[in-house]
Amino acid sequence: MKEIVILGAGYAGLSALHVLQKSSADIHITLVDRNDYHYESTALHEVAAGTQSGEKISYPIMDVVNPKKTTFLQKTVEKINADEQSVLLTDGQSLNYDYLIVGLGFQSETFGIPGADVNALEMVDVKTAAKVYEHIEAQLKEYKTSKDEASLRIVVCGAGFTGIELVGSLVENTKHFAEIAGVKPEQIEIYNVEAADKILPMFSDKLGQYAINHFKKWGVKLMTGKMIKEVRPNEVVYQNGKDGDLESLHAKTIIWTTGVSGNKIVGESGFEERRGRVMVKPNLTDPTYDNVYILGDVAAVMDPASNRPYPTTAQIALKMGHYAGKDILNQMSGKASTPFSFKSLGSVASIGNTHALGLVGKAEMTAYPASVMKKVIADRSLLKTGGLKEVFAKGRFDFYH
Ligand SMILES: Cc1cc2nc3c(=O)[nH]c(=O)nc-3n(C[C@H](O)[C@H](O)[C@H](O)COP(=O)(O)OP(=O)(O)OC[C@H]3O[C@@H](n4cnc5c(N)ncnc54)[C@H](O)[C@@H]3O)c2cc1C
Repeated sequence: MKEIVILGAGYAGLSALHVLQKSSADIHITLVDRNDYHYESTALHEVAAGTQSGEKISYPIMDVVNPKKTTFLQKTVEKINADEQSVLLTDGQSLNYDYLIVGLGFQSETFGIPGADVNALEMVDVKTAAKVYEHIEAQLKEYKTSKDEASLRIVVCGAGFTGIELVGSLVENTKHFAEIAGVKPEQIEIYNVEAADKILPMFSDKLGQYAINHFKKWGVKLMTGKMIKEVRPNEVVYQNGKDGDLESLHAKTIIWTTGVSGNKIVGESGFEERRGRVMVKPNLTDPTYDNVYILGDVAAVMDPASNRPYPTTAQIALKMGHYAGKDILNQMSGKASTPFSFKSLGSVASIGNTHALGLVGKAEMTAYPASVMKKVIADRSLLKTGGLKEVFAKGRFDFYH
């Protein structure tokens, strides 16, 4: 019997699990995750803004585990020793494997900007996202006694996909924030600070403009061309333009969304990586270790069309997991691998629950159709990791608004 260890019950890990659990091959699977629940990372901004609960975007991992085939361990991975074909967990337990699937996901990237790691809040899993909301709530309550306007100010650092989605959800919850602080909604100030001159670099200017127009309408203070130089306690220091002076913004809530890298465990385990991502072979295995599949946000896969790695998304992570499950079964039965291929179905960024923008196939979409598409995409991902049960329990069906 072959032992297959899957690290991480995210999009990639669970997608691989489904393929392997369905097979009649002589295998045993050990699935490891630090949590006993799977969460939809794509909805973390909603938990951070308080428009969605952590429970709504997660479900128990045991719901998708077949105990006859799989042992689930709620434990934390410390290190992989690929030479010895073993994984060390933080409690000292060691797991041996014949095949390993690494799907340990992303972590926040601060690009060495001083103070960003300690003075800004991150949003990388359900716990950190929930902490962001608790923090906002605490500042708003504090305002009632302090009357310090910095308590009403929220700064989102970064205007990429995640930053824009977060701003959208924060705007959506402004009325609730105002009620907590006992002020008018206009008094809640949401800033979005970005080094580049444009927002949402992955989309066309036309789509970016859709978000900008709505932000203007909603009173969001969008500050592009402001390179953040330092984050101090309750203060974001930025350069005003390329050669401009240093200026600063005082706010009691500062949220960091400027980018992500792959899980640091990959580098710490000695895999050749860049920003926590391994440039994998065409069958998604590590260049040195044929029995180690590296998937999702810890992998870099070249897009032959752009000659750059594909953006790391849930969509590609799901595909990779499915492919890796099948490829392991092929390897075991002596069949040759066919290279992994990927065709993006497009991507849609939400700005609040009822507005969105993005690409579906090659077609650009905004407003209501894009918002519906965003929910359909989320339900489709949920179907792939959790099956119909989780779609009925946690899916998005509020299409009419
Ligand atoms: C706010 C936000 C919005 C996004 N929106 C979209 C979108 O609209 N569309 C899209 O396609 N992508 C989106 N993404 C990107 C997408 O979420 C990621 O690309 C995707 O989650 C990667 O999947 P994964 O399987 O590699 O890792 P993850 O889904 O992050 O799973 C990693 C798993 O590993 C576990 N883990 C981590 N470290 C350890 C450890 N040491 N020990 C044990 N377990 C561990 C975690 O608990 C987690 O379960 C968004 C991301 C964010 C943050």
